[in-house]
Amino acid sequence: MTRGAGDESVPTVAVNAEEHKARLANRRLLDGMDIVAGAALRLQATNEADAYPAHVEDVTLSAIHNLVDFHALGMVWFDPTGLEWKIGAYLPEAHKALLAEEIQHQIEHDFVGWAITQNKPVSVPSRARGKRTFIHPLGTQRRILGFFVGISNEGYIPDVYQKLISIMLIYCVNTLEGHRLHTENLERRAEEKRLYKLTLEDPLTHLANRRHFDEVLGTELRRAARTGSALSLMMIDIDCFKAYNDEYGHQQGDEALRRVADAVSATVCRAGDLAARYGGEEFAAVLPATDAHGAAGVAERLRSMIERLHIPHERSSTGPCLTISLGVSSVVGGPELEAASLIASADRALYRAKRFGGNRLECEII
Ligand code: GH3
Ligand code: MG
Ligand code: MG
Repeated sequence: MTRGAGDESVPTVAVNAEEHKARLANRRLLDGMDIVAGAALRLQATNEADAYPAHVEDVTLSAIHNLVDFHALGMVWFDPTGLEWKIGAYLPEAHKALLAEEIQHQIEHDFVGWAITQNKPVSVPSRARGKRTFIHPLGTQRRILGFFVGISNEGYIPDVYQKLISIMLIYCVNTLEGHRLHTENLERRAEEKRLYKLTLEDPLTHLANRRHFDEVLGTELRRAARTGSALSLMMIDIDCFKAYNDEYGHQQGDEALRRVADAVSATVCRAGDLAARYGGEEFAAVLPATDAHGAAGVAERLRSMIERLHIPHERSSTGPCLTISLGVSSVVGGPELEAASLIASADRALYRAKRFGGNRLECEII
């Protein structure tokens, strides 16, 4: 036999087969990377909604399922103590029970513990004959959160797919952690806002408290001096309220205070106005850009509104129902005035209203 041209083709075919295999592997790697990159982009593009964590798990699991044809796959999350676990997302629906049994089995046989303590994926025999189970820890550098589990039909999972699964899971955990931190941050800010609001609010009536009132009055006095605009202060005092408490009890007294407070905030309602509980049965209102005439109008509306509430008060000196007296003080422009001077002026007016019999208003212009 002579060696012809055909003999040379033998090694060429062999090289081509090798090359073909390499190309196929390369193709698979590229396809796999495409799947991971596509899923990563989907995670990034998702808006933060309530269902966000579940969505992140779903996207991750579908991507992994596209990489490796697992018989069943899912995520398992630990509670903060690490003692309890629960299944997160899983695929397919029909194999949930099987997956749960497999997880229990792997936990009992300590493969989960091994993967977690080593912080490395493992591929171990499944409970079901002929299959292998891939276990991959889920966590950050500081904290293990759970693990991924996949029951493989194909036995051993090629290295390159194991690595792609790792990348996908790292992406998943980072996205979930980012979302958790973001949510925690929002909750903390809402709580801070709530606490800050409490420091400014009177707990019984929910009007501004004395501290808030002092701050706003100071600011508005400075603004009035700067802009030359008017500013009015209204002091409000319930008539014969001690007698009301004595007659009807403190609880009903509190209820009356709340009703008066509601009327104050309904009347003092322009943007920039502030209604506050000044102390005890006294209220105050800061009325920026309001002159004596305007403030007297607001005060009279409030006085008549309280009268029309018809809260019975048998021991009142002003009539059969609960009433209020008001002192209004107004300032227009000029040099900056001390808050104490405006308060003293409104107090003098209020005192006059009481002296003239109550259930009325008196004004003073500085
Ligand atoms: P006047 O007509 O001169 O204003 O007399 P008055 O009885 O309203 O005023 P006085 O200052 O003598 O009494 C105020 C009363 O307000 C005393 C207190 O029992 C009552 N009071 C103050 N704070 C509260 C509160 O938070 N709840 C209740 N129920 N009563 C309060
Ligand atoms: Mg009083
Ligand atoms: Mg009073």
